[in-house]
This record gives sequence, C-alpha cells and structure tokens, in this order.
Amino acid sequence: MSDNCIFCRIIEGTIPSKKVYEDDDILSFEDIHPAAPVHVLVVPKKHIESLEAVNPDNVDYVAKAHLAIQKVAKAKQINTGGYRVIVNCGKDGGQTVPHLHYHVLGGTVFTEKII
Ligand code: 5GP
Ligand code: ZN
Repeated sequence: MSDNCIFCRIIEGTIPSKKVYEDDDILSFEDIHPAAPVHVLVVPKKHIESLEAVNPDNVDYVAKAHLAIQKVAKAKQINTGGYRVIVNCGKDGGQTVPHLHYHVLGGTVFTEKII
C-alpha cells in the first residue's frame, strides 16, 4: 500500500468505488469518468506503480489481472462481442494514477484504430 495513492485508498475502502469483481489479489471497479458504455478498471491489490515496475517477484499479479479481465467482461456481458483493454504507462503513455491498472472498455464498436 502507498499512503497517497488513490487506488490503494479505494482498495482499502477509505475511498468508495462501484465494485465489479474482487478476489484476494485483484479489485475491479467502475471508472469515475467512463470513456465508453462499459469502462472498468482492473487493479492489483499490491501497489505496483506501472508496467515498468513489474518484475519477477510481482509478475503473478499481471496473470491474475488478465484472468480478472475475463471475469469483468463476462459480468458486463461484453465477453462474446469483444472489448478493448488499455494500459497507460508513465507520463508519455498518459498514465495519471501511478498504480498499475487495466482499462476494460466495451459496450460499443471501436472503429478508430491506433494500431
Ligand atoms: P490513467 O489515466 O492513469 O490510465 O487512468 C486513471 C483512471 O482512473 C482514469 O480513467 C480516471 O477516470 C480514473 N479515476 C481517477 N480517480 C478515480 C477515482 O477516485 N475513482 C474511480 N472509480 N476512478 C478514478
Ligand atoms: Zn497504489
């Protein structure tokens, strides 16, 4: 846990969130400013600053986050139609909350292609 991290506060429950999925290692909750009809954040309960802070000791959280993404997609009924997952990393990647998180976006057809 990091004292001044918004997502650590959400994980400990001192900042409320609309939970979508939770297990021992992962919390998923609705983004406060949704960018799509479905916009859920998937967050490891361990404070990992970004993808750049993933290492052999904490990489299991990445696998667990990916399994949680599937649970979120099913709960939101976007698993069959499909969805988009985004991870912003660092300043140039547009990351604003320095706690690793996956944006799960869906409920619409994404026509614009970045890659
Ligand atoms: P980033 O820009 O770091 O990739 O994504 C951070 C995301 O966290 C943004 O989409 C923003 O709307 C969301 N966010 C920031 N503060 C809060 C909060 O207090 N509660 C929730 N539910 N989402 C938040
Ligand atoms: Zn944190």
